[in-house]
Amino acid sequence: MSLVAVGTVAFDDIETPAGRAEKVVGGACTYISLSASYFVKPVQIVSVVGDDFPSDVLAFLESRGVDLAGLQIKVGEKSFFWAGRYHKDLNSRDTLDTQLNVLANFEPVLPAAYKNPDVLMLGNLVPKIQMDVLDQLDQRPSLVVLDTMNFWMDIALDDLKAVLKKIDVLTINDEEARQLTGKHSLVHAAQAIHEMGPKYLVIKKGEHGALLFHHGQVFYAPALPLAEVIDPTGAGDTFAGGFTGWLAKTKDYSFENMKLAVIHGSAMASFCVEAFSIDGIKNLTQEMIDARVEAFARLVHFR
Ligand code: AMP
Repeated sequence: MSLVAVGTVAFDDIETPAGRAEKVVGGACTYISLSASYFVKPVQIVSVVGDDFPSDVLAFLESRGVDLAGLQIKVGEKSFFWAGRYHKDLNSRDTLDTQLNVLANFEPVLPAAYKNPDVLMLGNLVPKIQMDVLDQLDQRPSLVVLDTMNFWMDIALDDLKAVLKKIDVLTINDEEARQLTGKHSLVHAAQAIHEMGPKYLVIKKGEHGALLFHHGQVFYAPALPLAEVIDPTGAGDTFAGGFTGWLAKTKDYSFENMKLAVIHGSAMASFCVEAFSIDGIKNLTQEMIDARVEAFARLVHFR
């Protein structure tokens, strides 16, 4: 079982109704790899940071079984930075700032040990870089999952469409699915996305859960009703980490097992939103994860 994850390792400034956090650890790959590390080891990451990124955070990731051989550290440069402010409903947010910094000239180089993964998670990143990673593999993984966001649809739509042709599963949120396809109905959007390439589609709906589409079949997982949501940043990536971690662990890529992957991803995301930055997913135990998965089972069981 092996998992390669690509994406940003970053600093974030975050403002939510619960408070503010400045220059905290974020980035799609950070959340994905930490979340997936509860299911598979090692999680081999492909990313880039500047020498401003805290070495104790990298050491922590390593202690969790995250392989940093594919992480480039650029001396004298700054890490990717993102600032966002959430609206009262916590389901929508405004991007206040995106500074690509080290990402602007990033050329991923896959170490030899990374070139035959069972599962490849192409986290939110420049679509050309996502393609570049795919091109460096020795053979096609059993499953390729891609996450992206409106930012890349706005500035690199053609590159994004090119990489969509090569993947199996796309994970995006409902507004992004509408933007990508121009269709308001999520059922119609799902059909249009299947035609772009992905056989499977996960549409994330924040506090309203996630939908898994596969050519006419649909599965719905709610989000766990939580008493307090502190910071939704990284929930989508943490979901992706749990989703791909589960699939890499079980090596069963059927629609039936993908349902379980959606539930495990949702369980991981429910921990993420309970604290700022990665704090909600730093110190979990198998018992805590199992209890959340059970809570999902109880939530939807009715017969
Ligand atoms: P999520 O809340 O799951 O969409 O992920 C939020 C994380 O994505 C933050 O920690 C950011 O550092 C990172 N991020 C924000 N914008 C981008 C972008 N344009 N490309 C890649 N990563 C981003």
